[in-house]
Parts: sequence; structure tokens; C-alpha cells
Amino acid sequence: MKKCYICGLETHTNKHHVYEGADKSTSDIYGFIVDLCFSCHRRVHDEQEQTLNKQLKKNVQRDFEDKLIESGLTQEEARTVWRQTTIRNYL
Ligand SMILES: [Zn+2]
Ligand SMILES: [Zn+2]
Repeated sequence: MKKCYICGLETHTNKHHVYEGADKSTSDIYGFIVDLCFSCHRRVHDEQEQTLNKQLKKNVQRDFEDKLIESGLTQEEARTVWRQTTIRNYL
């Protein structure tokens, strides 16, 4: 049992690549993969729910930058590291 990254429910989860398409392999490299419950996973792939998908992309970028800031980087430096992933800026 794992925790769903979006709703926090402890249940059976599936791995979801946060950044897909051309960024899928980058998601693999950086570990931008989250555990999602069935219903949240369906929602992020649902065309009608693009706001949820965008919110997830934002949150994962923020987590990534926050960790760098905690380790001593400035916000600007953290953003520079983000740009190096080649994934577009969602914040
Ligand atoms: Zn969920
Ligand atoms: Zn998925």
C-alpha cells in the first residue's frame, strides 16, 4: 500500500510520469514519477481535468526546487537547475 501523491489515500497505486511525451525519459532520469490511486490517475489523464494535471506538474517542480533551496541554493539557482532538466517552467 502506498500513498496517493494527490489525494493522500493509502491504497493500491500506479506509477505516473509527471512530465510525459518528450519529457517522459527526463521524468525517468530525475524520478519525476509519482504514485497515484486509480481515480486520481484517471483524472490526470483526463482531457477535461487539465487543471489537475498542470497543478501536479507545478507541485513536482516546486518540490524539486524546494529541496535544492533547503540544501542551500537560492531560488534563482534552483530555477537554473530546473532549466537544465529541459522540462519547461511550470511555476
Ligand atoms: Zn488519489
Ligand atoms: Zn500516468
